[in-house]
Amino acid sequence: MNRRDFLAGAAVSAAGAARADDTGQLAVNGGAPVRTKPLTGPNWGPQYYDDKEQSQLQEVLENHNPFRFANPIDKSKVALFENECAARMRTKYALAVTSGTAALHTAMAALEVGPGDEVILPAWTWYSCYSTVIQAGALPVFAEIDESFNLDPGDIEHRITPQTKVIMAVHLQGNPADVDPILAIARKHGIKLLEDASQSVGASYKGGPLGSMGDMGIFSLQQSKTITAGEGGVVVTSDAYLFERACRFHDITVRRDFPTRLRYLPGLNYRMNEFTGGVLLAQVRKLDTIIGDVRRNARRVYRGIDGLAGARLRHLPDPEGELGTGIFLGFRSKEQRDRYVQAMKAEGVPVSAPGGSVILPVVPEIESKVTVTPRWPSFASERGRNIRYGRECCPRTIDILSRFAGVLMSPKYTERDTTDAVAAIRKVHPAIMAQG
Ligand SMILES: *Cc1c(COP(=O)(O)O)cnc(C)c1O
Repeated sequence: MNRRDFLAGAAVSAAGAARADDTGQLAVNGGAPVRTKPLTGPNWGPQYYDDKEQSQLQEVLENHNPFRFANPIDKSKVALFENECAARMRTKYALAVTSGTAALHTAMAALEVGPGDEVILPAWTWYSCYSTVIQAGALPVFAEIDESFNLDPGDIEHRITPQTKVIMAVHLQGNPADVDPILAIARKHGIKLLEDASQSVGASYKGGPLGSMGDMGIFSLQQSKTITAGEGGVVVTSDAYLFERACRFHDITVRRDFPTRLRYLPGLNYRMNEFTGGVLLAQVRKLDTIIGDVRRNARRVYRGIDGLAGARLRHLPDPEGELGTGIFLGFRSKEQRDRYVQAMKAEGVPVSAPGGSVILPVVPEIESKVTVTPRWPSFASERGRNIRYGRECCPRTIDILSRFAGVLMSPKYTERDTTDAVAAIRKVHPAIMAQG
């Protein structure tokens, strides 16, 4: 046997081994699984902790000034983090706060959202998006998602009223919402656009960092997000007026390092401390490494399943800009999707239904409009009393989410992990599609 034939033979047997079972029998039907040790989900930023975070923390300990404003502005870890964050997100300003929820609450106050106002938000998103609108005393108005799992630009305009003040576009699971048409609608109607990029820190849309394209953007830095100090949040904007309002709201109306322009604003305390700021300073410097790692892994899987007959990916409004945190495929029905989930689990490559968010209008307490106290202003208007949540306000959202499932990508997956993910999808998907 010459060298060429030998290599060709080796390639054939390697391909056979990758399928794990030449009969192609699914593990769920008793065949050999692609992996015996199942792939485990991602843990993002904490996996990248090293001596950089450690020395930042050490400096704060030795400095004895964990309160950010006890430090000169050029020495404060929080201020340094804000500067690097604004530079990375290409906004003029960034304000660090204690959580993504605090960032949303701060944005509501900065954007002057209050009783009598309405905010349009996607029916599929995180609780905080809804509850900060309620905390502002305003009325949440849900819109449907499309197959990007984000706000459907085609379902916004008919929900706009003279009271609509803000559209909240949420970029979920690493994937940008379709910002251009959403922004066009907001501009046409004189409505502000708030971007929540909590689940997509570092992603972009047509070259623009998520969070930088609307009037304001927010990020969460909680442990499940791209970079983290366990908790944390950021508000970004390029508007000096909105920034000053945000600063005052997050710090009991004081503006400590800004020429005073605005009057009193009854704020809270959402200030970030220096320990958190130090860890996040180290983390933001690793952001492009982390997202580079996850994108490399995701692209291996995308390439590996390219051309798979009948495979329908989640809609990606900008495939270059998304993070690739989940490789989602769509099915004809929930029943077919559930069979895919079962079969992939048996292969040792678990896939899950879209997660990390909630179909909010069907949460019983939200459907019944529970507020902090019964006389809360959110639902006090005639429109507020009449608005209906529940299944009938978002049937397409419910349908889309019931038909998709995806492999979650970790930035730390090895090449072998991604090869296994491809092998499992290529083994299971055609079988599930063939069953109808
Ligand atoms: C995590 C998250 C938040 C809230 O952030 P916290 O830091 O947990 O308060 C808000 N919006 C979205 C879309 C999120 O995923």
